[in-house]
Amino acid sequence: NENAIGGASDSGVKVIVRMRPQNQDEGDGEMTVQKLSSDSLIINGQTFTFDAVADTGASQFDIFELVGSPLVENCLAGFNSSIFAYGQTGSGKTYTMWGPAHTLSEDMLSNEQLGLTPRILECLFNRIDEEQIKHAGKQLKYQCRCSFLEIYNEQITDLLDPSQRNLQIREDIKSGVYVMNLTEESVSTMKDVRKVLLKGLLNRRTGATSINAESSRSHSVFTFIIESRCKSMADGLCTFKTSRINLVDLAGSERQKLTGAAGERLKEAGNINRSLSQLGNLINILAEVSQSGKQRHIPYRDSKLTFLLQESLGGNAKLAMVCAISPAQSCKNETFSTLRFAQRAK
Ligand code: ADP
Ligand code: MG
Repeated sequence: NENAIGGASDSGVKVIVRMRPQNQDEGDGEMTVQKLSSDSLIINGQTFTFDAVADTGASQFDIFELVGSPLVENCLAGFNSSIFAYGQTGSGKTYTMWGPAHTLSEDMLSNEQLGLTPRILECLFNRIDEEQIKHAGKQLKYQCRCSFLEIYNEQITDLLDPSQRNLQIREDIKSGVYVMNLTEESVSTMKDVRKVLLKGLLNRRTGATSINAESSRSHSVFTFIIESRCKSMADGLCTFKTSRINLVDLAGSERQKLTGAAGERLKEAGNINRSLSQLGNLINILAEVSQSGKQRHIPYRDSKLTFLLQESLGGNAKLAMVCAISPAQSCKNETFSTLRFAQRAK
């Protein structure tokens, strides 16, 4: 097919596309994108291939099976993982990553709208329990903690303590890359996790965090850290492993208009455009490096987001991206550019 762009060759980045259902205003008009197979779609007569294509019929569980579940074992083995939700505002990023807030508030473990993040964490906790029982003789112990932050206009705010603004990223040999003064909550059950997630999401939504930030213009990063300690009965020696999983709801990918903007607003628009294109470049480079094995300079320091996540990208880390798209005709241009972005990562 000469119209086909790229192909799902095996780069280090797993890319899936998710098209949300039409909403009431959009009616049931013709959709801009047609799914062709489990991993390809067509738009404007052009075919794109990814690792998977999820269309309007895909459930939250289906998305977990595609991108969440494969990362769980990787995390338990001590490697870092990250999942990014990319797409224009209104395409379904937040719905995909966290799910509607009410699904977190009560004991609704079976809610079908539960998002990717709580599903992953539930699965991790179950696996941790299994491992601890299985290796009880080796005294295997896990400890988990999490943080939740927002990057808006290149400034970091703690979503678990919004009075903590403009936090700084530090790097040292002992701790690696970290955010100074960021709240880390110890969690050992799903109940703990739900509480933390909900608190962060409510802080994000009320905009109490950044003076005039809309969630569509900020990145939010939930990080879950797993530490394990395994003591050998034979020689009494301990082995330690740490891994993290980063779950990232990116700022809307629509280009922020620079015309007519001035002062702070102009600076903000420029920062958002820059940080998304830097993330794109970085994912591009990582895909290339993992395919060719060639060394390349990796520009982590170009933005707060990539600086923060540098230890979770590249190397043994697993990376997945959910590119969310809207089926609406009015979104066609943005949908096309999201698919182009997604293709670059393969
Ligand atoms: P974004 O975070 O990309 O701006 P949202 O996640 O807020 O977009 O989604 C926009 C709207 O569409 C919300 O009302 C959300 O509940 C709804 N929505 C998104 N994806 C789905 C889906 N897969 N199924 C049902 N509703 C969805
Ligand atoms: Mg959102």
